[in-house]
Amino acid sequence: MAGIWTVLQHRDGKLHRGSWEAIAAAQSLAQERGTKADAILLGQDVGALAAEVAACDLGSVRVAESPLLAAYTPGGYVAALAPALTAERPDFVLFPHTYQSCEYVPRLAQACDVALVPEAIAIDGGAGETTFKRPILEGKMHARVRLRRAGTALVTLQSGAYSADARVAGSAPVRPLGVDLAAAAAGRDVLGTEQIGGDTVDLSKADVIVAVGRGLGGADKLGAVEELARLLGAEIGASRPVIDSGWLPRDRQIGSSGQTVAPKLYFALGISGAIQHLVGMKGASVIVAVNKDAGAPIFKVAHFGVVGDLHEVLPALNQAIRELRG
Ligand SMILES: Cc1cc2nc3c(=O)[nH]c(=O)nc-3n(C[C@H](O)[C@H](O)[C@H](O)COP(=O)(O)OP(=O)(O)OC[C@H]3O[C@@H](n4cnc5c(N)ncnc54)[C@H](O)[C@@H]3O)c2cc1C
Repeated sequence: MAGIWTVLQHRDGKLHRGSWEAIAAAQSLAQERGTKADAILLGQDVGALAAEVAACDLGSVRVAESPLLAAYTPGGYVAALAPALTAERPDFVLFPHTYQSCEYVPRLAQACDVALVPEAIAIDGGAGETTFKRPILEGKMHARVRLRRAGTALVTLQSGAYSADARVAGSAPVRPLGVDLAAAAAGRDVLGTEQIGGDTVDLSKADVIVAVGRGLGGADKLGAVEELARLLGAEIGASRPVIDSGWLPRDRQIGSSGQTVAPKLYFALGISGAIQHLVGMKGASVIVAVNKDAGAPIFKVAHFGVVGDLHEVLPALNQAIRELRG
């Protein structure tokens, strides 16, 4: 049976933001093909999560519940998904591109002997020939690729490639995935998980990011940036030179060798807009750039731009926000 599936990532009863994006992508692909996508949820006691996903326009939410799946392991996930994929042979299976999917999806592709397209940023073709766009060469170029083999394609989607807000609401039945996990083994025991570094931030979850670049001029000049972040309830991010200079910790870096983010609002302050930075943030819904060089490449992706000295613009912006809030 042909179909479009999306396998959801979740933790502590919450869906990963990339899962909502994958649902939106699967819905869009399904709509082009005149069908409905199915969401796949693996875990234990995930009824509430299944109900939340069932409020989307999907063919169904298919759930596999087992103690084996209580904590994510690549062995458990492959054991649950491989028989279902082999039996039903969907055309596409979409996953958010995360550390987790990077670990188990290649193994799943090998177990099922099917194609894998990692880190796609677009799926084109509607009902005709399907092509995928994906970044290559550290994100300097996009390659358009076509699969040479027919059959199922596993596709991981880069964060921000599809907007979670574009997902369509609906009402889907929840039903079992229908796999027998009695004899399956995880291959590893998860003894526990821990947050690394007390102040480690996951910028991919932030709705608003205030990011600073080398144009800031030094760690001692972060005051106005911190105030803007406080006023907007934002996380602070940075370009690589800021991190390399030790002005902010490594977990704040955005870009090809840092985090990929897709906030609703992104401030790029004193950031030139080098490609290695852009690949990490161009999925933001609204980008506001402040740069004293009118020719800076960041203005090519910015929705709003201010040509000026950030040390003059920021205090004025903070003051305006404070006044607006009374
Ligand atoms: C393999 C590799 C991986 C990389 N990974 C990353 C990555 O993950 N993330 C990343 O960001 N970079 C990365 N880089 C580095 C990247 O190529 C750029 O060097 C970097 O993004 C530039 O950072 P920037 O914009 O802060 O600094 P610059 O390019 O120096 O730009 C500073 C900007 O600030 C403006 N400015 C200066 N003063 C002011 C002021 N007072 N007010 C307003 N504007 C001002 C300037 O006009 C300029 O446009 C990587 C590079 C390589 C080779």
